[in-house]
Amino acid sequence: MLIVMQAHATEEQIRQVCLRVESFGLKAHPIPGSIRTAIGVTGNKGAVELGVLEQMAGVAECIAVSKPYKLVSRDIKEEDTVVRIATPLGEVAIGGGRVAVIGGPCAIESPEQARATAALVKAAGARLFRGGAYKPRTSPYSFQGLGEPGLKILADIRSEFGMGIVTEAVDNESLELVERYSDVIQIGARNMQNFSLLKQAGKTRKPVLLKRGMSATLDEFLMAAEYVMAEGNYNVILCERGVRTFSDFTRNTLDLAVIPAVKSRSHLPIIVDPSHGTGKRHKVLPLSRAAIAVGADGLLVEVHNQPDRALSDGMQSILADEFTQLIAEARQIAAVLNRSIN
Ligand code: PEP
Ligand code: MN
Repeated sequence: MLIVMQAHATEEQIRQVCLRVESFGLKAHPIPGSIRTAIGVTGNKGAVELGVLEQMAGVAECIAVSKPYKLVSRDIKEEDTVVRIATPLGEVAIGGGRVAVIGGPCAIESPEQARATAALVKAAGARLFRGGAYKPRTSPYSFQGLGEPGLKILADIRSEFGMGIVTEAVDNESLELVERYSDVIQIGARNMQNFSLLKQAGKTRKPVLLKRGMSATLDEFLMAAEYVMAEGNYNVILCERGVRTFSDFTRNTLDLAVIPAVKSRSHLPIIVDPSHGTGKRHKVLPLSRAAIAVGADGLLVEVHNQPDRALSDGMQSILADEFTQLIAEARQIAAVLNRSIN
């Protein structure tokens, strides 16, 4: 259910409504909008008795939300959510016309590799650096990531280069460490429906970058985001990274049509990962252009200082020159759409 407050409702009236909702054993999620606050109510198994809430001071109306996702929905918040990521050099915004480019290697392999790649990512103009310290790999014999020492390398990159750090948590144990060291917690495609991980990420106060599962429908994707938000963490960034299809000329099929579909249903920002979405280095630049043109709020791109020596995903990692070109072109395309890269 959704409680829409009157435009002039006071903080105290909003607080009283939340307290009343919670007295029923339900959870209240006040979501401020530009004109008025809406309060999402979750936890109810059936219809809630609306009468008492509708009578309260400051309440405009109570609306039953029929969609399975509630907090994620535009019904609760009409305007785009802007996720603000704190970095040593100031805030980076994603959503609401602000576009961000996140670059870095698939995995943190060594301090040297991470530093060399960070230097080129920064020189190209990106303000967010991503690298995996924990890698979900198909084979148990493949490089699994450096673990906490990898997170420490990322922390050093953060202080040396001033970029915000995005890194993946693969389970509840790694999430605790990732929360401590990173600015954004990534949840990978294989974990999109790891509900206990989603709930734990929802209890943190760091933004969550949620990748679409490789066979997830749009509803399943949005419901995964709902898990995070239902725990009180409203800073979710969705990420399209390609889905499995019969197509055999790419690693995955990048589903760019999901961007406008998400935009019409949800206020959350959505970015695109053309690296996993194609699996091929030469396709990353053209699909990045297309992603910005179709309205994505950002790009997540694998960049490596020596892709041919990468311990994971070298085939889809691009080099410095191409990354520089990618940002320059994304900037131009974004500007045509009255958006800006930060
Ligand atoms: C990654 O981002 O390196 C990764 C493993 O991606 P995905 O979860 O989309 O496969
Ligand atoms: Mn990868």
